Amino acid sequence: MADSNKIELARISAKGVVQGVGFRPFIYGLAKKYRLNGWVCNTSEDVKIEVEGERESLDSFISAIKSEAPPLARIENLTVSFGSSVGHGNFEIRESEALPGKYQLVSPDIATCNLCLNDVFTAGNRRRHYPFTNCTNCGPRFTIIKDIPYDRPLTTMSSFKMCPDCQREYDDPLDRRFHAQPNACPVCGPQLELTDKMGKPVDCRDVINKTAEFLREGRIVAIKGLGGFLLACNAENVEAVTLLRRPKRRPSKPFAVMLRDIEEARKHCVVSYTEESLLASPQAPIVLLEWNSSSSICRETGPGLKYLGVMLPYTPLHHLILQKTNLPLVMTSGNISEEPIAGQNGEALRRLGDIADYFVLHDRDIHSTYDDSVAIVFDGEPRLIRRSRGYAPFPIHLAFTAPQILACGAEEKNNFCLTRDNHAFVSQHIGDMENIETMDHYERTVELYKKLFRIRPEIIAYDMHPEYLPSKYALEQAEKLALKSVAVQHHHAHIASCLADNCKEGPVIGVAFDGTGYGNDGHIWGGEFLVADYKGFRRAGQLEYLPLPGGSLAITKPYRTALGYILALLGERALDSRLGFLGKIDSVERALVLRQVELNLNSPLTSSMGRLFDAVSAMAGVRSAIDYEAQAAIEMEMIAYDAAGEAGSYPFSLTGDNSYTIVLLHELVAAVLDDLLKGCHASTVGMRFHNTAAAMTRDVCVKIREGSGLNSVALSGGCFQNRLLLTKVTGLLSQSGFDVLNHKNVPSNDGGISLGQAVIAANAA
Ligand code: ZN
Ligand code: ZN
Ligand code: FE
Repeated sequence: MADSNKIELARISAKGVVQGVGFRPFIYGLAKKYRLNGWVCNTSEDVKIEVEGERESLDSFISAIKSEAPPLARIENLTVSFGSSVGHGNFEIRESEALPGKYQLVSPDIATCNLCLNDVFTAGNRRRHYPFTNCTNCGPRFTIIKDIPYDRPLTTMSSFKMCPDCQREYDDPLDRRFHAQPNACPVCGPQLELTDKMGKPVDCRDVINKTAEFLREGRIVAIKGLGGFLLACNAENVEAVTLLRRPKRRPSKPFAVMLRDIEEARKHCVVSYTEESLLASPQAPIVLLEWNSSSSICRETGPGLKYLGVMLPYTPLHHLILQKTNLPLVMTSGNISEEPIAGQNGEALRRLGDIADYFVLHDRDIHSTYDDSVAIVFDGEPRLIRRSRGYAPFPIHLAFTAPQILACGAEEKNNFCLTRDNHAFVSQHIGDMENIETMDHYERTVELYKKLFRIRPEIIAYDMHPEYLPSKYALEQAEKLALKSVAVQHHHAHIASCLADNCKEGPVIGVAFDGTGYGNDGHIWGGEFLVADYKGFRRAGQLEYLPLPGGSLAITKPYRTALGYILALLGERALDSRLGFLGKIDSVERALVLRQVELNLNSPLTSSMGRLFDAVSAMAGVRSAIDYEAQAAIEMEMIAYDAAGEAGSYPFSLTGDNSYTIVLLHELVAAVLDDLLKGCHASTVGMRFHNTAAAMTRDVCVKIREGSGLNSVALSGGCFQNRLLLTKVTGLLSQSGFDVLNHKNVPSNDGGISLGQAVIAANAA
């Protein structure tokens, strides 16, 4: 039996999210509690702890590390080895150590905690009304970090010297702000400034009061937040919201709103328990909620939509502004169209000067910009549609060890993914890669992630589409750095992404429904049934190929797709003059489309489910031209909810055998036109079409199951952001005995592509 009074030494290494989350003070407190001597130290790989004491105390100490860890800490790996005492006299927190080549996880930015909110709203507190209040449990992290280890000199807080009061908190292991790197107060920390659009300071006693006054007057104010500028205006004021749309070049794309608290959210939306916890979580994403018809938020905020994007304040600055205005505020990314969000003061004034009347600036720099994340709750679980603030740069956990890979992502809703060990570092949402600003932001962010996580890619993965900017970047990098490159088919990446998101390896039946993806045969894919795992895929089914008259023009003008589909499937005779949507097309364009389809001019073939949604939406008169992506499909989903009880569906047929199935669509389109000629309401057509899409998905999956013996189905692609489709497809497949895999942590849209590319490249022989 061991001598119970013998002093032993334990060497402990804790990996995971253990820095910038109050971990060392927690360890300090534990060591005091169990009367252990030694030290704790941050390194660029882990937190190292050396403690000595009696074995029993050491064991209690070690189990408490796991069971009592601070709320934001995530211990992924705890290793312990025992040795003999070296005679430590006390317990101390040592200076951080940088170890060459080693890395550790970096915490995302975290919404203001309740204790800090108390400080901000308590009379007499030295941080009362201070907009940059934070502690080890909350505040900026990733957006201010320039390198690891996470210490103040390596953040954008390095230029602020702490006052004696802040320094005392920072040095006191028992204080909530012990080693809180962004610690600050009104005496020593960042300050607000209110300016007009020329950058000229506005004379006022209190920036918050004046800002609130401007917002109440219907002005547009650009507010510098955690990850970048947000454009704010009164969401009840139709004029202000309309004014905000014009220069932002978003005639109808929905805006998110920020509401004061959960009670306020309930006034405007239906909020489930899970949605409430998600809104109030430390990540505080935008949650798409069912919008009450009695809400006072003007409909121009999300024209034609039944869901409203809602978030709660996530910095003290937001809390203060929301308290003061006591209004629901539109809060939308500070950018024009699809440019990246503005992050620096000068840049914001330059880029947003035509939009905002006033600017709330501050002097804490944003090192890496960050959009707000967007989530929905489906089937009782949060699911991300845009993964950014609060989530990135946390990695997605892989079920295997990956080499160092850079996966460059897709063209739209782009992010990239870097892998190392069993971590897939999926970057924050970068945006649509259509301009220089976004490409610059992309390249800078890739370099930042490579530096933070000490990754030097050996393999580079990219989408097969030769015109995607990230693919071109990938090939340049591969040549420059002599890296192995792996081209990945778009829909294979979607399915692999869904597998990785569920920690599964396949093979599965993959249903990939989206707008566009470059196919192996050079056609545009998007209504695909694959049999896939990480190593490869076989196309096992598809929607039949149909022409897109004018190519990309058909995507912005769905009536062209509708015409093309009708002509190809049913011929010119089917263009009955009583069909309402035909009346909106000018005769010259109609003749042109006819010619394009007839002579096969500039009419690429597509099997896209997204385009089929567009076509039916246009035929039903819901939306004939769009000004944001997927608008026609989204509006058809919205209108279909008005025919909630409708159970009817349209005919379609399948050709081919168990190994390859093609869905033929002429009966479907004929039946839709028939319904419309009979005067059927668009909502009924919309619901019948959703029912049909779900039925064809089930039927094709059943055929593939017969041929392959596979019983799991992975659903991916942007079409599955459509909750009605997702619900119906998941329901029918489950009824038929399939296991259904859906996305959770990465989006089903092209924001999930980089993860899929990475896991495929990791498994490419
Ligand atoms: Zn806090
Ligand atoms: Zn201070
Ligand atoms: Fe896609």
